[in-house]
Amino acid sequence: MSLLRSEEIASRLSKLRAELPSTAQLVAVSKFHPADYVIKAYEAHQRIFGESRVQELVGKWEALHESYPDIAWHFIGPLQTNKVKYIAPFIAMIESVTSERLLREICRQADRVSGSSINNRRVIPVLLELHVAQEETKSGFSRDELFALLETIHRTPEEWQGVELRGLMAMASNTEDEAQIEREFAFVRSVFDEVRTSGLLLCPERFTELSMGMSGDYPIALRHGATLVRIGSAIFGDRL
Ligand SMILES: *Cc1c(COP(=O)(O)O)cnc(C)c1O
Repeated sequence: MSLLRSEEIASRLSKLRAELPSTAQLVAVSKFHPADYVIKAYEAHQRIFGESRVQELVGKWEALHESYPDIAWHFIGPLQTNKVKYIAPFIAMIESVTSERLLREICRQADRVSGSSINNRRVIPVLLELHVAQEETKSGFSRDELFALLETIHRTPEEWQGVELRGLMAMASNTEDEAQIEREFAFVRSVFDEVRTSGLLLCPERFTELSMGMSGDYPIALRHGATLVRIGSAIFGDRL
């Protein structure tokens, strides 16, 4: 394994940032890379990092939070309900909410972290993951499941005070067929617009984030209005 130098990470970051419109932010996906790479990116002004495994994220958070308290960690991978408790105290956003059961557990853990302090209630920002890819292995809500959940929340708002719905997340198919990817991101965008105007959101003005696009397809995602792009290998190289 050849370690990337700080300058390489910094120059990849600045090249990427130059491609982003002012409406989009970069989530640097540091999964499977050492904490040292996170520091190098931090020193190049990166503040939002994405991780997809609880244990790895907690390890990095423990190593870094005292010296780098302003890192915003986003969870982007499959999340088991029994592991929410480990990240609830510090996670800045859970992007990969794929079921009502998981969302309820996030609320429950937010309440637990809040303890008895009414003024300091913990509210965890979340994105709902929409399934659009052809691969069955990828997870997320169908459009109809998403609306069913939004209706449930709309009917019982008092049960969901531990989370704030900030938008949608999606992963396109892993394919060379750009037209297919284009169709998938266009679909996510249309569902996003539909949700925003549905009257079902408790706080529509806060439902602003559309997380889509990775190293291989972020230019397409940006054309369809992505506000968060999750980029790993184009910054940090191949994962080990
Ligand atoms: C790994 C991962 C990414 C980043 O993928 P790259 O191709 O390395 O940019 C983005 N989103 C999710 C959900 C991931 O798991």
